[in-house]
Amino acid sequence: MTGDPAILLVEDEPDIADLLTLHLGDLGYRIDAVADGALGLQKALAESYALIILDLMLPGMNGMEVCKQLRASQRTTPILMLTSKSEEVDKVLGLELGADDYVTKPFSIRELIARVRALLRRVELDQPEEEVGELAFGDLVIEPSKRKVRLNGAAIELTAKEFDLLALFAQHPGRAFSRQELLDKVWGYQYAGYSHTVNSHINRLRSKIEPDPANPRYVQTVWGVGYRFAEEEELASTE
Ligand code: CA
Repeated sequence: MTGDPAILLVEDEPDIADLLTLHLGDLGYRIDAVADGALGLQKALAESYALIILDLMLPGMNGMEVCKQLRASQRTTPILMLTSKSEEVDKVLGLELGADDYVTKPFSIRELIARVRALLRRVELDQPEEEVGELAFGDLVIEPSKRKVRLNGAAIELTAKEFDLLALFAQHPGRAFSRQELLDKVWGYQYAGYSHTVNSHINRLRSKIEPDPANPRYVQTVWGVGYRFAEEEELASTE
């Protein structure tokens, strides 16, 4: 393992490999590019990558087989598959084999980067959860690693998404999140126009954790933007 987070790119078409190497480099990742499936598998097993971008049709070993072998060896590195339109069945199979997402060729570089960002954020979100023991905000106590929430000592039942929202907020007190950003980070995809999904989850979360949901203390509305979690000082001053 080396210092910089790296992305493994397994793609045999030089034009696509060059284009992706260029744009992924802008995200601040070192790119290891290989054009052969067997070599890609070898590298993926030998090193720890933040993400693997895997073409389906490859010399040496096809992308599905690489994916299957990686998952069989308990590697949880996110895998983004690159597929072609003619490989409709294969792309579904790719997901069944343990790929996290796929992009169909020809793709726009913007779309691909958006998917890459979403996958990388999912990984980032998973990390602090393992490290943070307990987050306490006045009467509200969140245990990210156990996925437990207590209010005034009583356990609160949250759905998975409600919990993910709350954990994200609580790990960044005071930071405003747009609805798109919340979709991106909690749902993991770049949906367009589903901000009502966020609103309804926020409303349900508030009804469970807010003493007065009509005047939220913890999950506040940022008009024209989205939501933010109260900072410790604000919570202290209202007590
Ligand atoms: Ca190919």
